[in-house]
Amino acid sequence: MDGRVILVLPGTKANTHADRPLEAPRINHPTRHDSLRRAQLFQEQEGLCFYCREPMMPKPFLRPIAPRALTLEHLTPLSEGGSRRFPNEVAACNHCNNQRGTTSWLLFYCLKELERDESGSAAA
Ligand SMILES: [Zn+2]
Repeated sequence: MDGRVILVLPGTKANTHADRPLEAPRINHPTRHDSLRRAQLFQEQEGLCFYCREPMMPKPFLRPIAPRALTLEHLTPLSEGGSRRFPNEVAACNHCNNQRGTTSWLLFYCLKELERDESGSAAA
């Protein structure tokens, strides 16, 4: 023991090479799969959010993330056993993704549709 403390964050490996500079821990980095799926879904959905149908910004990694930034949305959350594949993945704006929270995707989709109808009929 040389008195050094090695901090290991969940999902990372200990940096046991104490002579090397510490690397930033890799946590929740977008995978190559995610980047490709984002680009694919953006194109398939013609750049529109799955829920609100507003145009999205295709650059999701700017900080802070803009409300209209494209995010990869899992209809059934990964934490509830949802898959990273079609048809469980859609592109949604950051605003809707955050707003949905734990609401079921179908209920949230219907609520957004009602909002669209109301704003549409209000303008007519
Ligand atoms: Zn949206």
